[in-house]
Amino acid sequence: MENHKQALIEEKKHLEGELSSVGRRNPEVPGDWEATPAPIDIMMADPNEVAGGVEEFEGRAAVEVELENRLLEVTDALARIEAGTYGMCSVCGNPIEDDRLGANPAAITCKAHMNG
Ligand SMILES: [Zn+2]
Repeated sequence: MENHKQALIEEKKHLEGELSSVGRRNPEVPGDWEATPAPIDIMMADPNEVAGGVEEFEGRAAVEVELENRLLEVTDALARIEAGTYGMCSVCGNPIEDDRLGANPAAITCKAHMNG
């Protein structure tokens, strides 16, 4: 279990690093992140540039959402370690297989329930 905890802590650090390159912490919601808007100088921008900026922002927002979802899973798994409920399937309550946790230490279901 210690090695899973270590893996989760490492992944959390990594995700926060990635997130800070595409987004910023939402100052109003603790633990929430938002994509940083593309810096567009409206006075200078021609329509093509604005479109490119919007596209770039949308790409970054999609990446940001993905990273944030994963960060939530990882943070949640760490909270379950603290609570002593880590490694239990959320569907059947049985222990999650160790090799499954090795592949995804934030897993919340056993192999039998991983797709449900
Ligand atoms: Zn299960």
